[in-house]
Parts: sequence; structure tokens; C-alpha cells
Amino acid sequence: MNYRHAYHAGNFADVLKHSVLFALLQALKAKETPFALIDTHAGSGCYALDSAEAGKTGEYRDGIARLLFPDLQNAASADHALPPLLRHWLDTVLSLPGNERGLKLYPGSPLQAARAMREQDNAYLCELHPEEAASLRGLFHHDGRVHVHHRNGYEALKALLPPKEKRGLVLIDPPYEAQEAEYRLIEAALKEALQRWPTGTYAIWYPIKLRSQVQPFLRWLQHCGARRVLRAELLVRPDDSPLRLNGSGMAILNAPWNLDQVLREPLQAMARLLSQEHAAEWRLDWLVQEGDTPASARA
Ligand code: SAM
Repeated sequence: MNYRHAYHAGNFADVLKHSVLFALLQALKAKETPFALIDTHAGSGCYALDSAEAGKTGEYRDGIARLLFPDLQNAASADHALPPLLRHWLDTVLSLPGNERGLKLYPGSPLQAARAMREQDNAYLCELHPEEAASLRGLFHHDGRVHVHHRNGYEALKALLPPKEKRGLVLIDPPYEAQEAEYRLIEAALKEALQRWPTGTYAIWYPIKLRSQVQPFLRWLQHCGARRVLRAELLVRPDDSPLRLNGSGMAILNAPWNLDQVLREPLQAMARLLSQEHAAEWRLDWLVQEGDTPASARA
């Protein structure tokens, strides 16, 4: 349990993760009925970008800061206008109390979700690290819609699913300290979760260092039983080194049917603005589409 998200808040991986989260929350708000957001690995909820941790890595400078100051980062690009989804997401970050004079605070997934939620919606946040869990409790102690669980997010899923709201989103965003073993934990948790709540939407963030490390998980997803699985990936460098984070992806199970259309332009813009060393690459495709024959049913 050495991982602290404070070192990485607002980096290029957070930009992908949180803009996809934003799109999913917008889709849930299309209906008036309440939804549940379950965040299995919630972090501390909010990060000061002038902290010693954030200052040590400066990762947000090659992440969200590049969306705020695109002219400085990519003078070769002719089109600096951000697609509406990214513009709106950025506005929600900048409108956070504390950011009146510029980007000082970066909201983590719990705070981004809570700001998007309506009165009728609920968030269930799981965090295992005692200090991070205490920060979460402090942040949300006045908010009756937010329920903090200081416990293992994978185990909590068993108790939390299906949610009483009957619709919503599970975000799975682990630190991958256990490296490839983390994928097996995710698969086991998803297998059980899909049995308990087959209609829920599940969004899983994954790191990309070497492409070969991710392939078994992506193949597993093709057999997992979800109706639709969308994969959105952004590589800021070639995926050929096991030693550094070259990109990341979001796998979305039971994704809204038009999520690929919603994310296409934002991914193009992220690739343009966040690329390092070489031109960035992005991928957006359905690993499973409605009407596909389940792999287990094939000869
Ligand atoms: N989702 C957060 C966000 O987007 O702002 C960031 C989460 S961070 C990548 C991963 C978090 O998971 C860390 O705060 C870590 O302490 C916590 N963690 C690690 N193992 C866990 C587990 N089994 N259950 C719950 N939390 C865990």
C-alpha cells in the first residue's frame, strides 16, 4: 500500500480516465431516476497541485495543464479548439472552489462524481488506505449522498451490488502495485459483479507499459458476458517499455450504445495535446458488440 495518487493527480492518464467518467455520468443524467456511482478505489478525493507530492513529479503539467494552455504545448497544431465534452469537463475542474485564480486543486474521481450528481443520486466510495479514507470522510462529511467505506473495494462490491438505485456505474481504478496479478483480482471481482448486477456499467482503468501485459485482460473481457465492451486507449509514447507509463486505457462494460461517438473527438484532441516524444496514438473500438455470438458459445 505504497501508492499515493497525489503524485499523479491530473496526469495524462487522469485526463483520459476522468473525461470518460464525465461522459458516463452525463449519460446517466439523461434519465431523472436516481443512479449509483460505486468507486472501488477512490483515493483521497481532492489533490493540491502545489503540494510536495504533486510538485515532486509535476505530472499534471503534461496532463491537464496541456489542455488549459494548448498553444504553449503544440504550436504545430492548427486546431486548438477543445471538443465540447473536454471543454465542459475542464470547466467543472476549474469551477471547483479553490480554483478561482487558476488550477490549484485537482478533483479525484469521488469529487468529480459528487459534483456531477443530482440530489437523488448516491456515491459509494471504497478506499483501503486509512489516511486516504479519512480524507474522503472529511471531504464529504456534510454530503448525505456520499457514503465512504474504509475497506477493500473488490470485497465491498459483493455487499454493494446490486445497488438499490438499480442503475449506475462501477469505477475500478486500482494502483496496479501487484502488477499483472491485479488483472486477476479485477477479473474475479467483475465475474461475480456481473452475476449480481448484469445490467450495471463497469469502467476499468488500466495502465499501458508493454502492450503484451494488457492483452490477456483484453481477451478476458471479450468473454466476460457483458452485452457491450468499449475500449478507449491513449498512448502518449510507444507501448514498448515495461519501465514507464506509456499510456492507459478505459474498458467500459455495458457502455452506452453511442459512447464511441461521444469519445471519438475528445480522444483525437487528447492525442494531439498530450503526445510526448512521438505523435500519440489512440484506439476506440468495441471489444464486444450487441449481437456478437458469445465466445463461449462458438464451436
Ligand atoms: N480513483 C481515484 C481517482 O480517480 O481520483 C484514484 C485512485 S488511486 C489510482 C488507487 C487507490 O486505491 C489508492 O488510493 C489506494 O490507496 C487504493 N487501494 C489500493 N488497494 C485497494 C483496495 N483493495 N481496495 C480499496 N482501495 C484500494
